[in-house]
Parts: sequence; C-alpha cells; structure tokens
Amino acid sequence: MPIQMQCCGLILMAILFYFYKSQKTIKLNTGRAFWRSFCMTFICIVSDILSCIVIVEQDRLPLVVVELVSKTYLVTLAGVTYFALLYICTDIYSTKSAYNRIMLRYGIFVAVAVILIYALPIHFYCDMSERVLYSYGASDYATYAFALTTIVIVSVRVIREKSKISGNRRMAVLTWLGVWVLAALVQFFNPKLLLVGFASALGMLVLYLKLENPGFNLDRQTGLFNHETFMQYANEYYATDRAFALLGISVPEGSFGTMRSELEEEFITEAAAYVMSLPNAIAFRNKSTEVLMLYPDMEKAEAGVKEIRRRFEKGWGKNAGIIVSPNWVYVSNSQVADNAEELLYLMRYIVRGSKRYAENRFFEVTSELAQELRSERETERLIMDALENDRVEVWFQPIFSTEEHMFTSAEALVRIRKEDGTLVPPAVFIEIAERNGMILQLGEVVFRKACAFLAKSGIQQYGIKYIEVNLSVVQCAYNQLANDYIKIMEENGISPSLINLEITESASMDARKTLLDNMNRLIDYGVTFSLDDFGTGQSNLNYIIDMPVEIVKFDKGMTTAYFENDKATYIMDAAMNMIRGMDLKIVAEGVETAEQFYMLESLGINYIQGYYFSKPLPADEFLKFVIGANQKTY
Ligand code: C2E
Ligand code: MG
Ligand code: MG
Repeated sequence: MPIQMQCCGLILMAILFYFYKSQKTIKLNTGRAFWRSFCMTFICIVSDILSCIVIVEQDRLPLVVVELVSKTYLVTLAGVTYFALLYICTDIYSTKSAYNRIMLRYGIFVAVAVILIYALPIHFYCDMSERVLYSYGASDYATYAFALTTIVIVSVRVIREKSKISGNRRMAVLTWLGVWVLAALVQFFNPKLLLVGFASALGMLVLYLKLENPGFNLDRQTGLFNHETFMQYANEYYATDRAFALLGISVPEGSFGTMRSELEEEFITEAAAYVMSLPNAIAFRNKSTEVLMLYPDMEKAEAGVKEIRRRFEKGWGKNAGIIVSPNWVYVSNSQVADNAEELLYLMRYIVRGSKRYAENRFFEVTSELAQELRSERETERLIMDALENDRVEVWFQPIFSTEEHMFTSAEALVRIRKEDGTLVPPAVFIEIAERNGMILQLGEVVFRKACAFLAKSGIQQYGIKYIEVNLSVVQCAYNQLANDYIKIMEENGISPSLINLEITESASMDARKTLLDNMNRLIDYGVTFSLDDFGTGQSNLNYIIDMPVEIVKFDKGMTTAYFENDKATYIMDAAMNMIRGMDLKIVAEGVETAEQFYMLESLGINYIQGYYFSKPLPADEFLKFVIGANQKTY
C-alpha cells in the first residue's frame, strides 16, 4: 500500500512531539496555536493513512464508510490550512476581541467548506498493480478550492501585515505554506505521489525549528525563560488587558568580589533553581544579573515577594556563605505602565533615580512614579525638540552696580519657546536636562547665544562689562568644557573678560577636581567666575575659600530673609564681612522693592539684581533697556 510517505510523516511528527514536550513550553497564544496546528497535522496524516486503507479495501467495506473516512481526511486537510491561518492571526490580532472576530469569520467559512466536502460526491481510483490510488470528484475539488483560498489569504495577510509579524515568522510561515502547496501540486498532477501528509509534517518541522523550539525561550545557563520570552508574555498580557504583578531582582555589579566567576556561578545555579520552583510565578532571566518574577495572579504576589526576600536573607552556596543583597523592584499592578517596554523602563528608572533611594534597596513602582516619568519624558521631548528646531532662547536680566550707579552686567537665563509660542521657564527643564545629560548641549547653546549677542549687539559701549552665564554641575564635571567654551569665544571673536561663569556648589570630590581643572583653564584664558545660589541649602563658607571665584551671588531666599529674620541678618552680616575680607564682590539677587534696594546698597552690596529693576528680558528689549537706563541715574 502506498503509505510510506505518510508513515515517514508520522515518524517525523513523533520525533517533533518528543522534543517539543520534553522541554518547558510557554503558555501563550502563539504556543497554543502552534500546538493546535501540530495536533491537526497529526490527525490529518492519520486520516490520510486511514483513507488509503479504506480505498484499497473499498470492495470489502460499505461505500458509506469509505466515503466518510475519505471525506474526513479531506476535512482535516482543510483544517490544517485553517489552523495555519489562526497561527498567523495570533501575531496580527493581538487583542482578544479582534482575534475572536477573525476566528468566527473564518470559522463560518470552514463550516461551509466542511458541509460542502461531506455533501458533495466523491469517487475513488485504485490500481494496486500500478500502486496508484486517489479520490476525485466535487468533494475533492471543494477541498482544494478551500485550501487554496486559505493559503492565498494567509500569504496576503503575512505580506500585508508585515509590520506586525517578525521577519523570522514571516519567512517560516511562507516556507511552510510553500512546501505544502508544492506537495499538493505534485500530488494533483501525479497521484502516485501522496506527498501532502509528509509535506505537512515537514512544514511543522520548519515552524518548530524556526519559531517554536522551546529552547529559544530559555536561558541556556539557568533554564529560566529569557528576556524575549518575558516580552512575549508581557506583550500578550498587555494586549489582552490582563494585569499582573512583577518583581525584579537584580544583583549589583561586583557582588562577588574577586572570586567572581566561581561564586557567581554557584549562586546563579542555586538561585535559579529556587526561583523556578516557586509556585504562582513565572521566572525569567531578563539580563545576566536580573531575574523577573511575573505573578499572573496579583493577589498572590505580595506573599511570594516576602518569601523570596526571606530566602535571600539566608546565604547561598556551600555553608550558605554567599550573601547577596540585590535591588528589589516591585510592581504590584502592571497597569501603571501602558506596555512592556514602559514597564521595564519604569523599573530601571526608579533604581537609577538615586534621590528616591529606598530602604533595604526595595523600590516600588507606583502610579505616581509612572506619572512623573511620563511628564519627565514629555519634558525630554520638549528639550530635544527645542534643540533641534532652534527654539532655545536666552534672556538677560540686568544687574545694577551700586558703585557705578548703572547697569554694568547681566545674567543670561535660558528659556524654551514651545511650538505654540508659549515660554517654558528653566525650573521646568533644567533638572531633567541635568539628569539625562542634555544639559551639556543646552548649556552650550546658551553660551553660544550669549557670546553671539555680545559680539553682535555692541552692548559694551552702553556700559555692560560682562555677562554672567550659568554653568550646571553636570557641565562642570565634563572635562572638555573649558576647551569647548574657549573655542566658542574664539569663534565669536569676543574677549574672555566679557564672560563671567556662575557655578554652584558641587558635592562630589571627583567632580570637584574636573571643575577646578576647567576653571583654571578658563581663568588662564581670561574668564571670571561667580558662586551662585549662596545661602541655599548646600552653601558653606569653606567652599568660597576653595574656589577661585570673584563674585558671590546671594540667593533670593537669603536676601529676603535678611529683612524678615534676625538670625538671617547676623548670618548675612558675617558672610558679607568675610566675603569682603577676601576681596570678593557680592551680588544680591531677588531684590524686588525700593526699600530692599536702598538697604542693601547702604550695606555696601556691590551689585543688585532683581525685579525691582527688571525681570529677565529678551535680547533686543534688554539692549533697549540698558541704553535707556544707563543714561538715567538712580
Ligand atoms: P539663578 O541662576 O539663581 O537665576 C536667578 C533666578 O531668579 C532667575 O530665574 C531669575 O529670573 C529669578 N529672579 C531674579 N530676580 C528676581 C526677583 O526679584 N524675584 C523673583 N521672584 N525672582 C527673581 P529663572 O530665569 O527662572 O532661572 C531659574 C534658575 O534656572 C536659575 O537660577 C538657574 O539656576 C537656572 N538656569 C537658568 N538659566 C540657566 C542656564 O542657562 N543654564 C543652567 N545650567 N541653569 C540655568
Ligand atoms: Mg544664576
Ligand atoms: Mg542665583
């Protein structure tokens, strides 16, 4: 009987079954769809063999049995192509409702096909001397028509929905269909070759090897699921609106000292086996040093997290000698984020933001944090957009000299102009730009614009001797700062004496070394420095002694406190004496009233900056202001 090909197909399926089932598989829609296709193909090959048998034995069997078995085989053939379509649809229609809709639509189509296949006549040809047997007739043609239509639909979908299906999957599915169509064509024109059953099994092999091998989902070293599998899970959960809880356990670099590799391996093996054995959670190795525990049932997460943390308090390895203190990041409800990428980003973000340093290094991702992150991202976009489209503006606030009774300097202050024309003040974006490093570019743009203004406006002839430009601590810690700024001054052809850079106190000693190198290079070149924000939280007098600054700027808070509070008066008097003793000049910022101005002037403060004279102004208005004001006397 010519069933050798089908038997080969069955053997192939058996081997595939063994490999597929002997590994840990993922319980997601694509995995399920593959498994359904696998079963359908198996049934199809078995039916194929059965139908060959009944056709050979047709003389001894009632016709109805022969017809029924043969037609059932045809139905399973149609079924294989239908399941192929569903398999593809799991990728395209990631939401459950869309998937169900498509399943229903094609389900009706299949039902019609099944009715037609069973209802239409079928005939058999069997010549055992030639080893040829096949069925033909309307029932057969209906099957081929249905299968062909489905294959065309699948191919069109795969090609049209390119963006939703990975390239790998597209190729695999098209290869599978290609093998199948080729076999069907050969069999159609040469009925001696019953290839379709074997080709279906080959198709499964292609899918298995390219896409569904459970080994792809696993991390080789630990046997935990890998990052890609986590993404598959999370994406499906998000797409189907299923909330979950997630715990991230990450071991900081350098946790294993000098004996790194040995201890690390011991720890990883033992800890991986432990997390894998835990109920209620699926464990993934997300990065080499990070494990994610996904709790499909959020209710069970909290207890699970407690248990794992308790286990980590004990040691690992021989004699429990390896103690590891990981960072814990817990998300009690995945819906704080809109998708898997954002969720992972939030988890990294909370650990990175050292301001929110948590006790026991346990961080919880809350919806407030997610909100904060979203607005931070929006601000990042705002900065990036302003940099790209030249919407960073520099405004100037005049500074009055009490000795010369005129405006002799100004502070350059950054603003961002939004697309709709509104202005965004620095309080909104400086901190964020510092955190993500954009301040380097932003600060440079401000400096370049301030230099260009000095070069172009000729404001020096109206009494302005220099412009103060703010430097962020991040810029001060950048070792190319001095070089870059000198180059910008050279490009604009301005004298360095026109520039005074405002620095603030920086905490880290490393940064201080770079700051001093930068300062010394710039001072050698001819630039001067001010210490900004004196009187706010951080400042101390030692810092003034250490830093080669010529001006100290009293913060608005300190200026106003002087008028309201005796203690502040003492502190400011003492600071003033000391600063004067060091031969430094003082700027009082935030002076808003005439009373404040006269008082500070009588105290001998060298410079006054504040709304009393003017708010920060755009470049052209500032120029007009200085031209007008420096002709008056105060
Ligand atoms: P800052 O350097 O201490 O600048 C003084 C701030 O006080 C300015 O706010 C100014 O408009 C405001 N101010 C001046 N006089 C008065 C007053 O009489 N009353 C009140 N209420 N406020 C007054 P602005 O422009 O919003 O800047 C805020 C901060 O943003 C600056 O504080 C500075 O730390 C930062 N910043 C501004 N521009 C830049 C820049 O180009 N680079 C860097 N790194 N930081 C900048
Ligand atoms: Mg300043
Ligand atoms: Mg200030």
